[in-house]
Amino acid sequence: MTKSHLLVDLDGTLLGLDIDRFLPVYLQQLAAFVGEAVRLPDFSPRFMSAVQAMVASRTDGSTNEEAFYARFRAGLAQEESKACDAAFSSFYEVVFPTLRQQTRPMPGARDFVDAARRRGYTMVLATSPVFPRFVIEERLRWAGIAPQAFEAITSFETCRYNKPDPKYYEEILRSQAIDAGAAVMVGNDLRDDGAATRAGIAFAFVEGSYAREQDPQGSPVWRGSMLALVRAVEGGEAPFAD
Ligand SMILES: [Mg+2]
Repeated sequence: MTKSHLLVDLDGTLLGLDIDRFLPVYLQQLAAFVGEAVRLPDFSPRFMSAVQAMVASRTDGSTNEEAFYARFRAGLAQEESKACDAAFSSFYEVVFPTLRQQTRPMPGARDFVDAARRRGYTMVLATSPVFPRFVIEERLRWAGIAPQAFEAITSFETCRYNKPDPKYYEEILRSQAIDAGAAVMVGNDLRDDGAATRAGIAFAFVEGSYAREQDPQGSPVWRGSMLALVRAVEGGEAPFAD
């Protein structure tokens, strides 16, 4: 089937970010900033427990945001909860932008997005939906890419499943009315992005220094560097053929 939709990963694919290095710095800075602002003695374990609840498989239909806050706010007084919300907001305003230093633009990423748009693909940013939408858009800008390039962006406000659960991909297909056979998932992770194959989606594996090959969940139909990907899309190579 002709491919008309590209699902595209962000971290390690469009943005040079090593998630194993970035996450500890991010979590440590968040805990330090918010923990200090709200003086909640159990902030760190409470936050980490809420993250666990957010990424766990659920059957209750809750979004990642709902699952996170249900756990995070459990037992908190209303004022404490409000103080935390304010502290999270100022963290993302004041501290998060400084984490850009932990990342670098990915050579070719912007050319890839431009080439895909020129060739008429509809694109969904299929990034791990554990962040608020505006935080994902901020990282896209770090990558030099306008959020408007994407028809949809998965984020914690709307998603109910996480990579590598195939339901994460099925939810994208359903909500965007995309036929699995018309889509290609582009990503740097054989587990998280390769899991798209379990939803019937072809997978293009972006190799290079950010590639993650542990626990593969599916075989790529295409593999190569980001620069090779630009050429493949521009040249209409399979699976990007017309
Ligand atoms: Mg990635």
